[in-house]
Amino acid sequence: MAVTRKRIEKNLQTIRERIAEACEKTRRDPEEVRIVAVTKSIESEAIRYVLDAGLVELGESRIQQLTARAEELGTYLQRRRQPLDGEVRWHMVGHLQRNKAKAVVDLGATVHSVDSLRLAEELSARAVTQERTVEVYLQVNCSQEDQKYGVAVGASVHLAEMLASLPNLSLVGLMTMGPLSQDPDATRHAFIRLRELFEEMRKEKIGGESFRKLSMGMSGDYPLAVEAGATVLRIGSALFE
Ligand SMILES: *Cc1c(COP(=O)(O)O)cnc(C)c1O
Repeated sequence: MAVTRKRIEKNLQTIRERIAEACEKTRRDPEEVRIVAVTKSIESEAIRYVLDAGLVELGESRIQQLTARAEELGTYLQRRRQPLDGEVRWHMVGHLQRNKAKAVVDLGATVHSVDSLRLAEELSARAVTQERTVEVYLQVNCSQEDQKYGVAVGASVHLAEMLASLPNLSLVGLMTMGPLSQDPDATRHAFIRLRELFEEMRKEKIGGESFRKLSMGMSGDYPLAVEAGATVLRIGSALFE
């Protein structure tokens, strides 16, 4: 069933309430927590409802989809009369192959899934060629499970240092996926681990001023992520179901 405008507004309200609760519990300012609407499941028509609801940070997990969506949206935005709550920004949240680096840089998208030096070097080289800066998060595998993507915790500080030194690449923060098990204790543990790593890197001045975001929390676990210090939530189904 296609998602309606009303549905998105109602879901967003629920999500904002749960974010506020988690912030109150941990004495955080809800303004620090941003939502990236992961639109992979919705019809392109519905993206305008997302914008109308005030969300301008949009995410996709596959590059082909991201490119197609960005193109459609560009056409729509040229015709749109109502003002937006900010500039639309695309986020590539899923795994990215090196040979797709150019497409991401072309779109000016932020990449949440950088987990190797080779990918980072490719993004950097493309960004230099195009005289742009590409924003990236280092994806860390913080769960005890064998997840496919994300650098191991033990190798993360070194890799972050290398990313921070690449030209035209801006390391804006760290990203992690909660464990697949969805066990709340394991999930909390993974998110807290990411925050600790983040604080350790900040202390060592890795990434400088631009390094200040924590991308963690999805539909099934975002309240736990907020309690652990998330500043960017990547939310799909909780918005669109
Ligand atoms: C799909 C996806 C999300 C959003 O997932 P939901 O559970 O639908 O909120 C977030 N991050 C990544 C990397 C994804 O692929």
